Amino acid sequence: MFDFYRLINKHIVYPLYYWKSGDKRLTRLAELEKNQYLSPKELEALQLKRLQKIIQYAFDNTKYYRKIMQERQLTPSDFTCLKDVEKLPLLTKAIIQENMQDMISKAYPFESLIKDSSGGSTGEPTIYYKNKDRHNLRRADQIRHDRWSGWDIGKRKALIWGAQRDLKAVQSFRENIIATYIERNWELDAFEMSDSEMKSFTKQLEDLQPSMILGYANALELYAKYLLKNEPNHKIELDGIVSSAETLTEEKRKTIEKALHCKVLNRYGSREVGLIASECKQQKGLHINADNLLVELVDNNGHAVSEGNGDIIVTDFWNFGMPIIRYKLGDVGKVSNTTCDCGINLPLLGSVEGRSGDFFVKPDGSKIHGEYFTHLFYELPQVKQFQMIQQSLEQIDLKIVETSSQTDHDYLEPIIFKTKAMLGEQVQVDVEILDEIKPTSTGKLLFTISKISD
Ligand SMILES: [Zn+2]
Repeated sequence: MFDFYRLINKHIVYPLYYWKSGDKRLTRLAELEKNQYLSPKELEALQLKRLQKIIQYAFDNTKYYRKIMQERQLTPSDFTCLKDVEKLPLLTKAIIQENMQDMISKAYPFESLIKDSSGGSTGEPTIYYKNKDRHNLRRADQIRHDRWSGWDIGKRKALIWGAQRDLKAVQSFRENIIATYIERNWELDAFEMSDSEMKSFTKQLEDLQPSMILGYANALELYAKYLLKNEPNHKIELDGIVSSAETLTEEKRKTIEKALHCKVLNRYGSREVGLIASECKQQKGLHINADNLLVELVDNNGHAVSEGNGDIIVTDFWNFGMPIIRYKLGDVGKVSNTTCDCGINLPLLGSVEGRSGDFFVKPDGSKIHGEYFTHLFYELPQVKQFQMIQQSLEQIDLKIVETSSQTDHDYLEPIIFKTKAMLGEQVQVDVEILDEIKPTSTGKLLFTISKISD
């Protein structure tokens, strides 16, 4: 059935509603859509202009940035190329918590700022603030990247999402009307995914025929597996799927694509800065939201890495309420060594590899995924359980539980050899044979732990 309302929404309802409410997302979107075709040189010039602006602003309006720049005898005029950003220290969650009051801009009345917090798998939530304009601008970022999936304003979008405060937080009648008739979003609850719930997902999706689904990688995979097993002949016809918030492995991607017959585009973002990078249909890597953010991949000393993995660092060009410059998100990304021929010139992030804590650090500061060491134990009948802990660049503790008590420990030699080959000859590997290895306080048994990675 032809969806007439799509055209009415796109050309009349949507623009009129946001024009009336003073929201500039569409003007902004037009600008962003132009930016994605800028040449790399033009884009770099734009980034530099925006970086200089936020540094100058932070210096003028926040105690924290003025202090750290004065300590380093820097002034805003010392930033003449993008690489100069490395003159500033990294910002961590702990630093934000300690210095929050000093990071908030004195140019804004405190009550006008929007408070938010980010979870994080490891520790305490980080509280931060943003000015309202910044908050609204994020919508335009999202629309630009969503359109790469084949979706467009006016078309329906389904969300398989579960963040209570995002979706279910006591939605008013008005918010419901906006979601349904203006945004045309349809929500499916990722927290309730029993077979009977998923059966109802299919019914809803078949009736609504959304253009796109946006969801958590794991929720999408769960639903895809359900479809393949129970409803392989469903009639859901999508233009594309965007997977976000969790790591999309190639295996998950294949399962979802097979079940829903369309491309799955990977997306990476954070609550603090919004959308960071997103794939186009070529799936050659994630195009960085580079006109709004500066994304760096750095080693342990905060310097750019030119290949392999690095810590993902972001600078938000637009949060004037609480400038966020060189923020370490705690994730590791891979440098891209390819280009995309889709026509979009936004630079590529190779991939997002995982949390920093999952990685071991090499003497040159580069990182290797803990998985490398896990593989060394594959198919060793002598080993029932193991745990490898990187205490320092010189010290590895290896705990082993054997299947039955071994008299001969020769099987350990290749493991130690390969560990040194990866982490350097200076490494001392201490082996301890135990009766059991205790899980962490959360009940998780970690095979590899690096204490110097984060
Ligand atoms: Zn592309």
